Amino acid sequence: MKTHVKALVVGGGAIGTSIAYHLARAGWQDVMLIERDELTAGSTWHSAGLLPYFNMSYATTHIHDYSIKFYKTLEEETGLNAGFSVVGNLRMAQTKARMDEYMVYATTAETCDVPYEWMTPAQIKERWPLVRTDDLEGAIYHPTDGYINPADVTIAMAKGARQRGVTIERKWQADAFTWTGDHWDVTLTRMVEKGGNLVPSDEQTVVSAEHVVTASGNHSQRIAQLLGIKMPAIPVEHQYIITEPDPELLKYREAGNIEHPVLRDADAKWYVREERGGWMLGPYEFNAPARFEYGCPDSFRADLFPLDLERIEEEYMSMIHRIPTTETAGLKADFNGPICYTPDGNPLMGPAPGLRNMWLAEGFSFGITAAGGAGKYLADLMVEGEAEIDMASLDPRRFGQDWMTTEYAARKNEEAYEHVYILHHPDEERPACRPLRTAPAYDRQKALGAQFGCVNGWERPNYYGPLDAPETFDHDARSFRRGGWWDYAKVEAEAIRSGVGLIDGSAFAKHRLTGPGATAFLDWFTCNKLPKVGRINLTYALTSHGTTRTEYTIVREGEEDYYLVSSGGLHAYDEDFLYKAIADKEAEFGRIKEEDVTTRWGVFAIAGPGSRDVLREIIKDVNPDTVLSNKRFPWLSVRNIELGMCPVKAIRVAYTGELGWELHHPIEMQNYLWDLLMMAGAKHGMKLVGARAQNWLRQEKSYRAFGHELGRDGTPLEADLPRFVDLSKDFHGKAALQETGVRSKCCTVLIDGPADADPWGREALYNGDARVGRLTSGGYSVTFGKSIGMGYVAPDLAVPGTKLQVKMFDQLWNAEVVEDSPYDPKNEAIRKDG
Ligand SMILES: Cc1cc2nc3c(=O)[nH]c(=O)nc-3n(C[C@H](O)[C@H](O)[C@H](O)COP(=O)(O)OP(=O)(O)OC[C@H]3O[C@@H](n4cnc5c(N)ncnc54)[C@H](O)[C@@H]3O)c2cc1C
Repeated sequence: MKTHVKALVVGGGAIGTSIAYHLARAGWQDVMLIERDELTAGSTWHSAGLLPYFNMSYATTHIHDYSIKFYKTLEEETGLNAGFSVVGNLRMAQTKARMDEYMVYATTAETCDVPYEWMTPAQIKERWPLVRTDDLEGAIYHPTDGYINPADVTIAMAKGARQRGVTIERKWQADAFTWTGDHWDVTLTRMVEKGGNLVPSDEQTVVSAEHVVTASGNHSQRIAQLLGIKMPAIPVEHQYIITEPDPELLKYREAGNIEHPVLRDADAKWYVREERGGWMLGPYEFNAPARFEYGCPDSFRADLFPLDLERIEEEYMSMIHRIPTTETAGLKADFNGPICYTPDGNPLMGPAPGLRNMWLAEGFSFGITAAGGAGKYLADLMVEGEAEIDMASLDPRRFGQDWMTTEYAARKNEEAYEHVYILHHPDEERPACRPLRTAPAYDRQKALGAQFGCVNGWERPNYYGPLDAPETFDHDARSFRRGGWWDYAKVEAEAIRSGVGLIDGSAFAKHRLTGPGATAFLDWFTCNKLPKVGRINLTYALTSHGTTRTEYTIVREGEEDYYLVSSGGLHAYDEDFLYKAIADKEAEFGRIKEEDVTTRWGVFAIAGPGSRDVLREIIKDVNPDTVLSNKRFPWLSVRNIELGMCPVKAIRVAYTGELGWELHHPIEMQNYLWDLLMMAGAKHGMKLVGARAQNWLRQEKSYRAFGHELGRDGTPLEADLPRFVDLSKDFHGKAALQETGVRSKCCTVLIDGPADADPWGREALYNGDARVGRLTSGGYSVTFGKSIGMGYVAPDLAVPGTKLQVKMFDQLWNAEVVEDSPYDPKNEAIRKDG
C-alpha cells in the first residue's frame, strides 16, 4: 500500500468513489481511496437508486443536474453499464398549493437548464391508464431523469477512477487522524472477517496525505469524534418495499407499453416505480427514528433494520388508492436502512471547521443523485480553490460548533426526513428544537405578537402578527403566493418609511479584532478602505478567486481596535475563514487578538424619520438636543452613548435606507433597553418590525444581501459595488477580481407581477424568448406599490430602462431595470439632520 498520497478519500460508497474519480479527473495524480469493507457496503448498497431532479435549492439542483448528465457518459468511459433507466419522473399534485410549489420550483429549474413539462390529469390518464387521476390537479414531468443501479454506478466510477490512476484499498479502516502542520498522518487498521463479522485486526499502517476527504456515510459520528469536531450528519431509518408482480402491470407492459416513469405522489409522501413486474414503494413517513446518534457500531455493514409496516400503512394505502391494481400484489421484499440526514436536509460538503486540508462529504440523503455532482464540485473546491457555484448552502461550517448538540442534530434530522414531501414553502419555518437560542427580549416580543424565524438556531421575529394569534397562525399563513403574513409585513414596512420602527438584529455575528497586526491584516483581508477611528465601512473579504466570501460592517473603535458585524446565519462559516486567515497572516502582520463577542452584544435597529425623536427621549447627554445631529453623530459613524442606564455602541446606519441607528448593547441589559425604547417609542407611534419587512425595504435601496446577491459565485464588481472596492490598495483576491471582469451584473427590477404574489428571489429572467438571468432576491415595494427584485443579467442588460420579464407561476411578467436605489437615490432620508 502507498504510504504518501496527495489525497486520501475515506469511504467507498457512491460519494467517496465519485470524489476520488473527480479528483483524478481534475488532475491530481496521487489519490487513494480506502474502504473498511467492500465498495458500496454502506447505504449505497440498499439505495433505491432514484435520481430525482426536483430540488428547491439552486446549488443542489446544479449538483443533481451534473450527476444525471455524468452518469449517462460513464459507460462510454468505463465500458460498464450502470443500469441508468431514463424513464422520466412524474410528480403529481393533489392540490392547487402543490401545483404552486411546482411552479415556484420550475422557474428555479429553468435557471439551471433543467427540462420539465406540465401534464394535466387527462394527459396522465391517457399515457398511464393504471394511475388514478380523478383527484389530481396536474403534474410536473421530468423526461430526462429516472433511476440507476447504485452499486453499478459506484463500481463504474471506481473503474473510471482506477483508469485515471486512483488506488483503491478495501478492508482498511481509518482509525486516527493527526495533523502534522503540512499533512495528515492517517492510521489505518486492517479489517478482517470473523464469524460473519468485520473486526479490526492488529495490523496497522500510517498513510501521509496532504488532503483527506471523509465520506463515511453512517459512520460520520465516529469520524467526528476522531477529528474532534461536531458534525450534524446522523442517519434516519428509511424503508421501501417491493411488491409481487402486478398482473395488470404485466399485461400493460406485454401490450408493448414502455415502463412507467418514477411516480411521485408528493401529497401522499411517496415514490413508486416499477420493479420486475411489481412496484417499489418508498414512503417518507412521519416518526422515522434517527439511528446511530452516538456512532455506528463497527459490526454494522450493509445491514438492515426490521420492516415497520405499521409506520408506513398510510402511505401503503395511498399507493393502492393511486394505482388500484397494486391492491392484489402481495409484499415481496422490504428494505429498512439508515439514510444520512442533516438538520436542513442538505449534505455537508467542504472544509471541516477548524481543520486544515480536511474535507467533509457527509450527510447525503440523496447520495446517489448527488454523487456525481458532489464529486465534481468538491474536487473543484479542493483543486481549484473554488467551484463555479456558491457552495455556502452546503458548507459543513454553516452549523455552529459552539451551540449545536447531538440531540439537536438527531431531532432536526428526523424533521428533515419528515419534510421531504411536505410543501416546501419559501416562507416555511420548521418547528423542531425551538425555541433554542433566544435573546432576553424573546418573551416580550412573543407577547407582542412576534412570529419568529430561526437563523442559525436564534429566534428572530419575521413579523408581528395578531396579539391573540393561535399557535398555528404562522403555519397557516404560509403560501407560495402572498401569505397571511403579507399584510402585517406591509404595515411594518410602511411604518419605517413614514414613522419609526424597531427591528431585532441580535443574531448578527460580531467579532472584535485588536492588537498591533489588526489594521494591516484587515487592510489585506478586506477590499474596501478601512474606516477612520469612530467611523464604519461596509466591506468584503474575498476568496482567492476574487469572489465575495464574507460581508462585514467594520466599526473602527481605535487605531487597532475593530468591531466586525457579519451575517448571523453564517456565523461559524465566516468565523472559520477569518480565524484561519489570521493564523496564516499573523507572522507577517503582527499579533492579532480575535474574540467572538456575538452572544455578548444584543442589537436593536431603530429606523424611520421618527427614530431620532424616539432616541432623544431617552439619551443621556450634556446636550440631548444636538447629540444625534449630523454634526455630532454623522451618518456612518459610531458613538458610545447612554440610553437611560444602558451603555450603547450606537452605529448610524440602517439597512432599510431610512434615518436610523443600530443599538449594540450588553445582552444582559436587553430587557431594560427594550422597555425603555418601547416606552419612548409609544409617544411616537413606533412599530415593531420583523425581518420580512426589512428584506423588502433593503431592496428598494438596492442593498445587496449576503447569500443572495453576494456569494462565492460573483465578485463585488459583478454585484455592481465598485464604491466598496478600493483598487488603489492590495487586498486578498484583488488580482483574480480584476482578471474575472464583469461576467454578469447585479441590477434592481420593478415588476408588474400577479396581484397575489411576489417573487421569492429564485425566478428566471427573460428578455423576450431568451432566458437572460435570474433573480436572487424578491419581494414587495411599499414605495412603488408593486413587486421588486434584484438579480443578475449580462452587463448590457443591467442598464436602467431595460425591459425584461420575470417567470412566475408559469407566466412571464413585465419588469424594468431601474437605477440602483430606486427609493431615495440621493440618500437624503438616511442623512437627514435634526
Ligand atoms: C432505503 C434507502 C433508499 C434510498 N434510496 C435512494 C434513492 O433512491 N436515491 C438516492 O439518491 N439516494 C437514496 N438513498 C440514500 C443513499 O443511499 C445515500 O445517500 C448514499 O448511499 C450515501 O452514499 P455515501 O457514499 O455517502 O455513504 P455510504 O454508501 O454509506 O458509504 C460510506 C462508506 O464509508 C465506509 N467507511 C465508513 N467509515 C470508514 C472508515 N473509518 N474507514 C474506511 N471506510 C469507512 C463505509 O463502510 C461505507 O462503505 C437511499 C437510502 C436508503 C437507506
